[in-house]
Amino acid sequence: MNRIDPNGMDWQITTEEKDGKTIYHITVNAVLYNNSSTNYDSKTMNSLADKMKDQVNNAFNVSGDGYSVDMKFNLKTVTSADDIKLTDHVFQIVDQGSVGSDLNGNADVNGLNIKMTTSTVNSVLTNKNNRTIAHELGHTGGLLDANLYQEQSKNLGVDLSTNLMSQSKYVQRVGGDFVNANDLTRGQINAINSSYLNGNLNTKSPVYIKSEYTNTPYPANVLLNLHLRTYKVLPK
Ligand SMILES: [Zn+2]
Repeated sequence: MNRIDPNGMDWQITTEEKDGKTIYHITVNAVLYNNSSTNYDSKTMNSLADKMKDQVNNAFNVSGDGYSVDMKFNLKTVTSADDIKLTDHVFQIVDQGSVGSDLNGNADVNGLNIKMTTSTVNSVLTNKNNRTIAHELGHTGGLLDANLYQEQSKNLGVDLSTNLMSQSKYVQRVGGDFVNANDLTRGQINAINSSYLNGNLNTKSPVYIKSEYTNTPYPANVLLNLHLRTYKVLPK
């Protein structure tokens, strides 16, 4: 079985049938980049990256009746936008004002751009938050906020008070354990896999590309195909 996706894009998902069980092999390649006004030394960035990897692996390596998930989350810390590839998931540390006052972070559904606030960084580093990074990654896999789309959540077998895709403020409001609410259902894993197979994922890189002839940002996949000479801008 070939586990390397030839186009280099992630998410990369393959499924394998083994002993009557479906195994979902998932790989996500991501970078961590500080785009905030707070300075973090490299030691802090590395320990943040380790906590983020733990968080994603804990949430996504689930198993149940007839299935299991084998999640490989690769996360590299970069100090320059030039080191970000168009296919990378980009976890950006941002100032609170960049996401709205009551959010820990946000992400484009089906996209490659994930924002996490400096206060989220603090809560992840101190183990007071074991879900926001994995939650935002769920959005890039096409999952919506479970509490805002309850009909769909029901179809995916979601328990709103314990599920990863419920918003933290909702879990708090209903008295759930918002530090650790990080369940994923097989329905949700299947939904990510379907989005992947339909070609919906890995869109909207925050690393903009412009051609030297026009000022128009092109979609990254178009430019990759055209081999235009390009430069990169990472907007705040
Ligand atoms: Zn969300």
